[in-house]
Formats: sequence, C-alpha cells, structure tokens
Amino acid sequence: MNTPMLQQYQEIKNRVPDTILFFRLGDFYEMFGQDAETAAPVLEIVLTARDAGKGQKIPMCGVPHHAVDGYLLKLVAAGFKVAICEQMEDPQASKGIVKRDIVRIVTPGTLDSISSETKNNFLACVYKEKTWALAYLDITTGDFRIMETPSIQILQAELNRIAPSELILSKDVAMLSKLFTDYYLTAIEKNLFLRTAELSERFKKQAELLQQMPVACKAAAGLWQYISQNIPNSGQEHILRISVSQSSTAMVLDKWTRRNLELVESLRTSDEKGTLFSTLNLTKTAFGARLLRNWVQQPLRDPESINERLASVEELTRNTFLRQDIQKALTTVYDLERLLGKLSLGKASPRDLLALGSTLSCLPKVRDCITDNGSQKLAKYLPSLAGLDDLAQELLAAINPEAPYSPKDGNIIQNGYSAEIDSLRAISSGGKEWIARLENQERERTRIRSLKIGFNKNFGYFIEITNANAHLIPDDYQRKQTLVNAERFITPELKEYEQRVLTAQDRLSDLEYQLFSVLRDKVLACSLLIINAAQSLAEIDVFVSLAGTAIQNNYVKPEIRSDGIIHIVEGRHPVVERICDTFVPNDTHLTRNKHLALITGPNMAGKSTYMRQVALIVLMAQIGSFVPAQKAAISIADCIFTRVGAADNLAAGQSTFMVEMNEVAHILKNATADSLIILDEVGRGTATFDGLSLAWAIAEHLVENPEIKAKTLFATHYHELTELEERYPEVFNLHVAVREQGDDVVFLHKILPGKADRSYGLHVAKIAGLPPHLLKRAAIILGELENSPTQRKIVKAVDANMLQPSLFDNQSTHPIFKELEELDLDNLAPRQAMDYLYDLISRV
Ligand code: ADP
Repeated sequence: MNTPMLQQYQEIKNRVPDTILFFRLGDFYEMFGQDAETAAPVLEIVLTARDAGKGQKIPMCGVPHHAVDGYLLKLVAAGFKVAICEQMEDPQASKGIVKRDIVRIVTPGTLDSISSETKNNFLACVYKEKTWALAYLDITTGDFRIMETPSIQILQAELNRIAPSELILSKDVAMLSKLFTDYYLTAIEKNLFLRTAELSERFKKQAELLQQMPVACKAAAGLWQYISQNIPNSGQEHILRISVSQSSTAMVLDKWTRRNLELVESLRTSDEKGTLFSTLNLTKTAFGARLLRNWVQQPLRDPESINERLASVEELTRNTFLRQDIQKALTTVYDLERLLGKLSLGKASPRDLLALGSTLSCLPKVRDCITDNGSQKLAKYLPSLAGLDDLAQELLAAINPEAPYSPKDGNIIQNGYSAEIDSLRAISSGGKEWIARLENQERERTRIRSLKIGFNKNFGYFIEITNANAHLIPDDYQRKQTLVNAERFITPELKEYEQRVLTAQDRLSDLEYQLFSVLRDKVLACSLLIINAAQSLAEIDVFVSLAGTAIQNNYVKPEIRSDGIIHIVEGRHPVVERICDTFVPNDTHLTRNKHLALITGPNMAGKSTYMRQVALIVLMAQIGSFVPAQKAAISIADCIFTRVGAADNLAAGQSTFMVEMNEVAHILKNATADSLIILDEVGRGTATFDGLSLAWAIAEHLVENPEIKAKTLFATHYHELTELEERYPEVFNLHVAVREQGDDVVFLHKILPGKADRSYGLHVAKIAGLPPHLLKRAAIILGELENSPTQRKIVKAVDANMLQPSLFDNQSTHPIFKELEELDLDNLAPRQAMDYLYDLISRV
C-alpha cells in the first residue's frame, strides 16, 4: 500500500471494515485486497492485481460505473453491504490525488435499484418499550408506515406480510435478534431511536400521529436516522408522510396460513405462479400490482369498506366501456412512485422525466374515462387525478424524445422549448456549413486544391496543407503543427470561430443540465400531488383488474354478513380450477351452531383443495373481490388459520411434529368465534394413537371451549373422529365421494354429507404403482387390523376419559415448565432474566 492512491484507499477502507468498498477510479468502481477476492466470484468478474508499490501486488477487480446497479443487487442479494466511495472533485481540475469520500452505504433495505416491480422493498425497524413497535419504509416508492401492538404474534405476522429485506434493531437488546432470525438484521445504537424531534420536524403534518404512537415514533426515528446515515447526500423528498399500517383493521393471517393458502408465493416454486395473487392480477401498472399484492395479504374486516370495494368492482363488471377505456389509458402508464423515488434520490435520467411526463399526460384520459362513462364509484378519484396537466405538458414539450439515459450527455432538451438553447445549438451545429464555406474560400485564395480544415482535441480547428503545396502557403497562416507529409495552420478567423463554437457547446451542455435540474425540481415540488395521483391510479387499476378477473373466471359478488353464516353454493378453488380440465364445484354451509365439519375420504380425493377453496373464497370476499361460486354469503372472518399435517410440511431443524403442535397451540390461543380454521390431517406427524388422541382432543376443544367455537374444517384420516358427530350437535361429517369400479376407485371430487366408508389407501398405493404382491399382503394385514378390537378400544378410552394428557390439557408437561422449575432465579442478573424471558416468548 505504498502508492498515494492506495494509501487513500486504505484510510477510507478502515472506516468501513465490514463492508465492501466500491472505490471510484475514473469510469470504474474498483475493489482491492480481500474485498476484491470476496466480490469477484459473486459478481463473476475477473480478479486481477495492481501494483501496490515496492514490487508488491494487491488483488483488484472492478465494475463500470454505469452498470453499478446490477452489481450492487448481486452483492446485496448475497448478503454483503457495499460502501460507495466517489471522487469528490473534478480529476482534471485537481492537483495531486483526487479527493474521495463515501457517499452512501448500500444494504438490502437501502438498495434503490429493484429486483421486482410488483413487490415492495421494505426496510423495517422494530423497537420495544411497553409495547412492540414497527416502522417500515420502501425507499423506492416512499411508502412509510408505523404500527404498535402489544402482541409479538401480530408483530411477527406483519413482518411476515411485508417481508422486509432488512430489519433494524437496537444494539442493546441483543436477545431481540433471536426472535427475528428469518430476516437480514442490522443493529444500531439505541440513541438513534431517541432522536424523535428530528423526525417530527421532518414530518410536521404527522406530528399528532407521532405523538399518539410514541413507541412507533421511536422505531421510525431509528429507521430515519439509519437512512440518513447511509444515504446522506441524496434527497428523500418523495418520502412525504408516515401513515399507520392497516394491520389493526385487517384480517390476521399468520405466516403458515399465508404460505399454505399460497397467497403470493407458491409452496413448490416460491414464486408468483399458481398463487391467488397471480390469478387475480390483471393490473396494467406496477404500482397497481403492488397494491393488489398488499390487498391479497391484508383482507379487510370492516363490512362497510368491503362493500365499498365490492360496489366498485361491480360497477366495473357491468360497465364494459368504462373498464376497457381505463385499461387502454393505463397501458402507457409507468411506475410513478418509483420514478419519483429515483428523481428524489438523484438517480433519474432524462428518459425518466419523459416517462413521468407521458404518464402524467394519461391523467386527463383517465378522468375522461370516468366522466364520459358516468362512473359513480370512480368519481371520487377525480380530484386527485387533477392538477398535474401543466406539468405533464411542460415535461413533454421540454424533453427530447430521443434523450439519452445520462443527464450529462446533452441532447436532453427539445428544439423549440428554449430560445437560448436553440440559438446555441444553431451555432454549434451550424459549424459544418461554415467550415465548408471557409474551406472553399481558402482553396480558391491559395489555389491549393487539397487544402482541408480539420479538428482535433489538442489543437482545435486547423488548416492542413501537404508538403507538396508548401510554397503556396499565404503569409497570414500561423504554423501550429508539423506532420510527416503535411503542416497544420490556424488563422485568426478560424480561431475566433472556434472560440464561438466551443463556448456555445459548453454553454449548451451547462444550460441543458440546468434546465433538466429545474424540471426535476418542478416535479419534486409536485411530489404530494403525484403520489396521490399514483395511489388513485393504483386503486383504479386494482378495481379494473378485479372486475376483469371476475368476468374472465365467472365469479359472483359475495353477500357480506355478520350472523356467522358461511354459505357457498357451487364454490370452486380459484387457482386449481384454472389448471384442472373439469373442476367439480362444491357447496359449503357453516353456521354458529354447526361450525365444525369433519371431512373424511381417501388421499387425493380433494379434501385439501376443498378446504383451501373455502378459506380462499372468504379471503377474496374480504379483499373486495368477486368469488368463484354460483352464490356466496360470507360472514366476515377476523382470522383465517390453516394447519397442514406435519408429513406435508417438512420444516428443517425442528421436529416436524413439534412444529405442527406449535402451530395448533397458536391457533387455540388466538382463535375466536369469528375465525375460520382449516386443519388438514393434524396429528399425522406422530404415532397413530398419539395422533388420533390429539386430533380428537383438539376437535373437542374447538367445540367445547366457549371462547373459541370457531368455524372449522377438519380433514382427517382418523375415521374414529367421525363419532364426534353423534356427541356434539355443532359437529357434522362430510366426505368426498368416490366410485368403485372393480378393484379401482374413481375420484369424483364431490363433497357429500356423512362419513367415508374407508380410507382407500391401498387403492391409491395401487395407482401409485406399488407391486401387486405387496398390495395383496397389505390387504391381508388391513383385514386383520380392521377385525381387531382397536376401534372399540378407542371409543371406550374417550368415554372413560382415559386419553393421555395432551399439551393443552395439562400444561405442566410442557418442557418449558420443567425448565422453569429448574431455573436458578437467585443467580440470574436482571439482564439475563430479561433475555431469558425473550427466549421463552420465542419458544412458546
Ligand atoms: P386430498 O387432500 O384429499 O389428498 P387434494 O385436495 O390434494 O386431495 O386433491 C388432489 C388432486 O385432486 C388435486 O391436485 C386436484 O388436481 C384434484 N382435485 C381436487 N379437488 C378437485 C375438484 N373439486 N375438481 C377437480 N379436481 C379436483
């Protein structure tokens, strides 16, 4: 490290030891030493070496500055932080080593280039005092929200929903990190959370809200400080307001339910294909898609808001012209929120301004669609779509449609927008004719036919004359350069002209950049209007999309009720029906008095599909979407819980049965009479008798416990459970119909009242291709088992209350109780006790 440049590098690198340093050298960001060795394979770039003085070499690799975003995405996705170090002065104007400094630190949550248009990239911050608090922000769109909740489960559910790419915690509560192991964690100093005054000053309009939610205000302050430190030089003008997360008014969906119902991510491929979101998504804009994605994950609970949304969708299903016109108007709309974000973060190109202009110029069209088609429901958006027409026109008039991607490359402003730019352009481009004229004039005067006028960077304009014509050179030519076969001259006239052209060009590019900046500031001054317009467009886009899907897939408007009834006629699974040749629709009828359905039937008959279909129909109704059924009356659910037997749900690390029981315990703790519970083969993860006993006790608990009585669909292969129908009026049996053809079974996928005869496991095994002799042997064993007294034993056991104590009947058998008994409280420091408590919470 003996060269001055590398010494400067080392000095800066020492400030960010745990971060990869992108060190700007001309057109490249270079990495050195260990950073280069780490980054080169991740970025798939060549590792070279640079002379480090005294004959030493240092590993080096680099990326071109104009393509830096893609490389940042890769490094951050691989879990690294990157510090961007820029040249702080013009290398040509500076003497000695150029001044350099870190201008920003890029982490997953502060990355402003994006990997997905339809997903938000949230940076989240959790803070704990007397209550839990969460703040989260998408820097690319400016969406900034806060919430407070006493429940760690609700906090976890919200985190799971927003799936932040980075989570900030306070350094001094190390135990907290144990609760959030799913996320990329960053710990910051506690005092940063206390700088609430700065936050209130910045978000003056929300001062009251921040006062009402003091803990959330601290979470937001921590987040804001973190951003300000990492992106100190960029504006955050597009981040205009903090609002309260809607989770308190939304249906609660925990992470298992979100996964099992495949709302936005499929279980198998972890992408959007085959999800409810992808089925419903016909949006035309990126912000519309993001909004729909949020709606799908946050169904409403308030009947008025649900009906309001349903009415909008209904109007759009009925008014084809309205729907089609809006769709047409939205096809040329770009991602307004992110364009504004780029502009404010100083990353916008002239093309982005153009995209913004053309998007804003769609607003009058959308307004016309709404008024011309007499829309009642969308009329409320008219005011928020107004007020930006002049800006749109100005942008379109100003920016050259062929503008380059960089604001420094010139050619940004259109002819006719600025008289000064037009005249400067005329001077600098009119040059060719002027030169040609001068060339002709000089040829005639000197009688040198090969005389030509040229230009190079070092000498500017010159007249070139070959040596053969040297005797004809006039006296007023001043010699500038001697070549092998020719000499180059200048004349005062040529010099004067050159000066004019060069000044014009410099002035032109300065002026273009200046006008670009003025336009940029004009747009930023309208940020609030633009964000409001974007939000309205997003909602309109989502409604049009929901109406489109409703028509395309033959959905009906659900009736929203509050009497506890769920009544679905000919319901269908919205995703499965699209990949199935003939989907068999099924009815559902649940009431407060008959609220637990036990569903039996062979594997592969359609039990899971049926139960998920009910959950999805309820969820869709609460989003404000029409539903796949002939008729549907839906009482609003406060929560939907779904649990899938452990054998279907392999979680790494923990015993699968433990995971399953944890999940069930969570349901029993949180479900109410307004909840909808889907239990799919619960109990399967353990030995038969354990599983059966637990399943039985769980079903009993759901019916008997006056605080729960939740609507439940319970699929089980424990046929013994069907006995419950006779014991409890709230319980009823359903089964999936099959038709036997000789030794084979045909699945009819029809849900009917009553219990299934038997499990048909052997038939499924046959279809799966098990060898015939094995199947024969299994049939013999089955016959013997069916004749054994086991069945009767179980029923007796239940009657005599002889079941093994379960996790729920007798909590003292839970391992945590044993641990508590053995805890040496006297020898625990208060901090250790606190940490232990957090640990317990994470395990309950
Ligand atoms: P189970 O839970 O009883 O094992 P699934 O619900 O997983 O069965 O269904 C198995 C397969 O049967 C599904 O993948 C689907 O292709 C098909 N299926 C399920 N329900 C229906 C239906 N109502 N109509 C048509 N096909 C269905």
